[in-house]
Amino acid sequence: MSVHLPRQANIAHMFTSLHQLSSIVSPFLLLKCPRYPRGASHRRTLTGGPASFKATLNVSTRISQSSPVLIPLDDEEEAAAAAKDMHIPLDKLFIPPGVDASQLQKAKRLQGSNIVLSPYAKGSQIKQAEFIKSSSSVEECPANGYPEFALVGRSNVGKSSLVNALVRRKQLAMTSKKPGKTQLINHFLINDSWYLVDLPGYGYAIAPHAVRTDWNEFTKDYFLSRKTLVSVLLLIDASIPAKQIDIDCATWLGQNKIPMTFVFTKCDKRKKKKGGNKRPSENVNDFQNLIREFFEETPPWIMTSSVTNQGRDEMLLHIAQLRNYWLAH
Ligand code: GDP
Repeated sequence: MSVHLPRQANIAHMFTSLHQLSSIVSPFLLLKCPRYPRGASHRRTLTGGPASFKATLNVSTRISQSSPVLIPLDDEEEAAAAAKDMHIPLDKLFIPPGVDASQLQKAKRLQGSNIVLSPYAKGSQIKQAEFIKSSSSVEECPANGYPEFALVGRSNVGKSSLVNALVRRKQLAMTSKKPGKTQLINHFLINDSWYLVDLPGYGYAIAPHAVRTDWNEFTKDYFLSRKTLVSVLLLIDASIPAKQIDIDCATWLGQNKIPMTFVFTKCDKRKKKKGGNKRPSENVNDFQNLIREFFEETPPWIMTSSVTNQGRDEMLLHIAQLRNYWLAH
């Protein structure tokens, strides 16, 4: 493994020009820099996390399947404060490519995430979004070479709500929910330059003891062969304890070295304390602990809510920094 740190000279300048982002990033002091892997396939190095994967699909940890009673957080302020207060140990941070080890004292972490902001986080806002097409195979997918980010998660995880919140269009993601389109690869073109891709949800296991990830073969084929895939955005419902199938999907992606970001949804919800139930931030921590043993380096993760818009701007910045780095190399 070697550290790859391009464009080192511009970093200080970038963080100065990113001053206006201070409302959505939180400061930290970084004492050491995790080594950043650079493998044979370039795109594989972008999200770092699964590059060195301790392979096994047999997750032995038992996960509670109970359905908690949920109540919304009192207000946005409380959710924001919870995110702000979160302490991330240095070795659990995601350091994106382009962050200079010698400038880390000045670096910022995106609030409600373990993601460090890089100089590549430019042009993040979505100005234009349109549905392009539905495809039933990778061969049918758009061929113009634009970078893309694929959203995947259990049915009902909040995928459509998140797409609509990201693009600020109430009904855009409904396109993917139309009968006949739910099992297809749906491409949305953003700012005429990159794609958000809505993949079929999982969670309806056909044969319980067959392959735990019940993705269609064509979905797996998409992950394994789509050359323009920059990162999978794996959605996990933070309002309930992690499901085994989410762990299985994460480990399958990791084992196959598919770059991924964990996007925790419904972070505005919390359970009643009475039953000893957990809050979203606790479920997020539990999920980290469950997957830790399978990853040598922590994948990027971020907390979101489509109701309060928590994590929206941060997620767009993360997407922008991965996308811009991908385009530049
Ligand atoms: P999909 O099946 O993954 O596309 O999920 P949907 O976007 O249709 O959402 C499933 C349910 O979760 C709906 O009742 C949404 O209103 C609800 N939901 C989605 N996102 C959020 C969120 O961020 N917070 C809360 N409180 N509810 C959400």
